[in-house]
Amino acid sequence: MGKYDYLIVGSGLFGATFAYRAFKKGKRCLLIEKRPNLGGNLYCENIEGINVHKYGAHIFHTNNKTVWDFVNSIVEFNRYTNSPVANYKGCLYNLPFNMNTFYQMWGVKTPEEASKKIEEQKREALRSLNGREPQNLEEQALSLVGKDIFEKLIKEYTEKQWGRKCTELPAFIIKRLPVRLVFDNNYFNDSYQGIPIGGYNRLIDGLLEGVECRTGEDFFQSVCPSTGKMWKDSWREIADRLVFTGPIDQYFNYSLGKLDWRTVSFETRIVETANYQGNAVVNYTSHDVPYTRVIEHKHFEMFGQQVYDCPKSVISEEYSTEYKEGMEPYYPVNDEKNNGLAESYRKMATQETNVIFGGRLAEYRYYDMAPVIEHVLQII
Ligand code: FAD
Ligand code: UDP
Repeated sequence: MGKYDYLIVGSGLFGATFAYRAFKKGKRCLLIEKRPNLGGNLYCENIEGINVHKYGAHIFHTNNKTVWDFVNSIVEFNRYTNSPVANYKGCLYNLPFNMNTFYQMWGVKTPEEASKKIEEQKREALRSLNGREPQNLEEQALSLVGKDIFEKLIKEYTEKQWGRKCTELPAFIIKRLPVRLVFDNNYFNDSYQGIPIGGYNRLIDGLLEGVECRTGEDFFQSVCPSTGKMWKDSWREIADRLVFTGPIDQYFNYSLGKLDWRTVSFETRIVETANYQGNAVVNYTSHDVPYTRVIEHKHFEMFGQQVYDCPKSVISEEYSTEYKEGMEPYYPVNDEKNNGLAESYRKMATQETNVIFGGRLAEYRYYDMAPVIEHVLQII
């Protein structure tokens, strides 16, 4: 093993994009990944001819043309448009909140009627805010869409997803959801969205083509064959710089304390029907169903007759839980305690020489895929 310009820890989108750019610039890279497969949370497993999003459903979306052109230069994307449906106690509503939802909720048929109804629904919340900014998710939601939608489509789903009361969560989480006075079920406002044709593994394979990768290597627990010592203790002997995409608190040996995470688990099964729920994503927004949503993976990549040409289907029920040792950390917990702690770790990170911290885990930020790529394109 010779001297590398970069040792990259983690093969998620941050690590893989970084490796791609560095490799193109003639840098010598070694990437290590603790899981048996590359791709981080984007990794898909093929079951019954269907790409199953093993670590959660991923829909690529962005407004940034540079990012969109970049990913399309690696693999072509299809025309998938995310339009989830919400199931509240057996009644179905379109998401995001748009004229279809308002019709289903209140029977209103025109934007004017919907607008009037929303204003009426918001009145009480706006009165109690009395001109000040919403301080938490509940206040934000009530002042954005009012009582009925909050109670049927937001409150219990959010509590299931985050394991906290809506009054204890930051307002910005819900600002991600658009409210529209048109009949448009497209979940995202972005100009570009889709799924890589042939699945996300093709994106990752394309990014990592030619890059030396080793799976099953944990930076903190595995021994680097050329130094005979742990990667964490000896990486400076084999590489000039480290790109670290694992959890930031672990890098610093939890010296300031542990960060909290939310995690998700999936119950995936094959169903003996070509079309199980007629949509890729159905959210279950009430407490009486324990999971948050059901994903039917084939609908991300199969359209029209293709759905029926593949006789079976694969579905995943998604459960959101508190993180415990040994689980996969998924979502940073955005409360005061954790944000403060993360900020302290981020300050420590700036003092580390020749180490780049990047991605969801190392920055402890709620990042979608496109901003992760945008960040990498800015730094290399
Ligand atoms: P990761 O994909 O987590 O990669 C980090 C990698 O580092 C992992 O492979 C991990 O195994 C490895 N690693 C960690 N520690 C070590 C170690 N000690 N040694 C070696 N390797 C290590 N974004 C969207 O744009 N659209 C979506 O629809 C969407 N859906 C999502 C759904 C879920 C359930 C989740 C959790 C995220 C979703 N995201 C979505 C966000 C998206 O997953 C992230 O933006 C993206 O995965 C970030 O890439 P990353 O490289 O930072 O992290
Ligand atoms: N949300 C909700 N009801 C839904 C879908 C989402 O209340 O049916 C809320 C929930 O608080 C969630 C936030 O909106 O955390 C953002 O949802 P999004 O689907 O964008 O988040 P993701 O799970 O994809 O990160």
